Amino acid sequence: MNIKNYINGNFQNPISNEWIDNYNPSNGEVYGEIPNSSKADVEEAYKAAKSAFKQWSQTTLEERSRILIKISELLEANLQRFAEAESKDNGKPVALAKAVDIPRAASNFRFFGNAITQFASESHESVGQNAINYTLRQPIGVVGCISPWNLPLYLFTWKIAPALAAGNCVVAKPSEVTPMTAYLLGEICNEAGLLKGVLNIVHGLGTTTGQAIIEHPDIKAISFTGGTATGAHIAKVAAPMFKKLSLELGGKNPNIIFADCDYEDMLNTTVRSSFANQGQICLCGSRIFVEATIYKKFKTDFVEKVKQLKVGHPSDSKTNIGALVSKSHLEKVKDYIKIAEEENGVILCGGQEVNVQGYENGYYLEPTVIEVPTDECRVNQEEIFGPVVTIMPFNSEEDVLQMANKVKYGLSATLWTNDLKRTMRMSNQLQAGIVWVNTWMMRDLRTPFGGVKASGVGREGGFEALRFFTEPKNVCIKY
Ligand code: NAD
Repeated sequence: MNIKNYINGNFQNPISNEWIDNYNPSNGEVYGEIPNSSKADVEEAYKAAKSAFKQWSQTTLEERSRILIKISELLEANLQRFAEAESKDNGKPVALAKAVDIPRAASNFRFFGNAITQFASESHESVGQNAINYTLRQPIGVVGCISPWNLPLYLFTWKIAPALAAGNCVVAKPSEVTPMTAYLLGEICNEAGLLKGVLNIVHGLGTTTGQAIIEHPDIKAISFTGGTATGAHIAKVAAPMFKKLSLELGGKNPNIIFADCDYEDMLNTTVRSSFANQGQICLCGSRIFVEATIYKKFKTDFVEKVKQLKVGHPSDSKTNIGALVSKSHLEKVKDYIKIAEEENGVILCGGQEVNVQGYENGYYLEPTVIEVPTDECRVNQEEIFGPVVTIMPFNSEEDVLQMANKVKYGLSATLWTNDLKRTMRMSNQLQAGIVWVNTWMMRDLRTPFGGVKASGVGREGGFEALRFFTEPKNVCIKY
């Protein structure tokens, strides 16, 4: 199936008529093509967005809200179709796409459709000076949204929904590795009655299509989720043009387990936080630190549970772990397993490719647990972004805190303990944008989402996202 660009409400081929193969990771076969869009396509998308801006930014909040909620409802009505498309493009189990990815994409539109009706600005009375200040929150204009392949529609809509809610027009690019559901979203936007040109979706490579978006002098804000190196590049390109930037980047998150936790709950959640979505979630707890007194027991129980996970075809309802997203990503993850061995890591389970019958060319890998001799080894410091976790014991709160913070990243951290004072001490000191205590990836869309250090700049979610996608203007009136 060939994917087209969605520009000014129309589906069209790239101007150059150049295409890129789209792979199905579950069998390694090409199943369609996507536009390899050039600067000229991005320019056309920009122009469509620019001409729609006046009308969209003047559309009442009730009307914007109604359309966003309509998009949400249409996504829900098409749940099965979208979940199957996401799974085929990405390799994730259909059941996961159906339970998480697509419902969350629908929630993103519903949430921001509601949030915009509650978004208020401030006013300040200058007492004794006979003046009042009020702040307008105006949409920026045309903004760029660029997203990665791991949670394709989920993260794509997490940017687009607040951008649109705030009254901007958007030029968006999904990952070239997983473009399908973004393409299908265009149909839904038309059906929901979204004005032509308000949302434009351009497909293609990061280095060409993405680059044209970030370089465009009149696309005044970029919301990006992806790798840290790409984020650094975007910052370099965008800074001299003074673009607003929101960067959600990589992670290497600690999962810290104390002996006083609720053990069964911790064990089951840790299996999930290690391997959900084949470990390809920026929030996965890929560095597991376990208090020495329960280390041996944890190691035995955890490995036993991980061995029970079924690696299989994404459409098989018994599958826990589907295919990795691409051949090159599979190779990268396998290279890290080799590096672990060279660094004297012990592979406690997994480490091998899996031959799924009938799908021998798919990108399947066993969930892998590596016991590492030190927190300073590469597999404990660098983002692998696959079904691979490291485990090691710790002796004291101080030690584990130091190891948890001793990476360049700072996205999320998970803490398992029933000690309230320790919870408070640790949450205060962990260098992360998000700390989960006795849970993992529990999300409330009103909360600020994002990381510190090399995990990014800025926060998404709730009113933070609406603030990002608007420019505050203070008006001071003397009377
Ligand atoms: P990536 O950086 O390779 O690509 C992300 C997007 O950027 C893609 O759409 C790509 O085409 C585009 N891109 C690449 N080069 C570009 C350029 N020069 N200009 C403009 N756009 C460009 O990342 P990926 O491999 O798709 O995703 C995996 C990474 O994303 C991991 O590091 C993961 O941790 C991170 N991630 C972070 C979060 C978060 O919320 N912090 C969430 C999910 C994924």
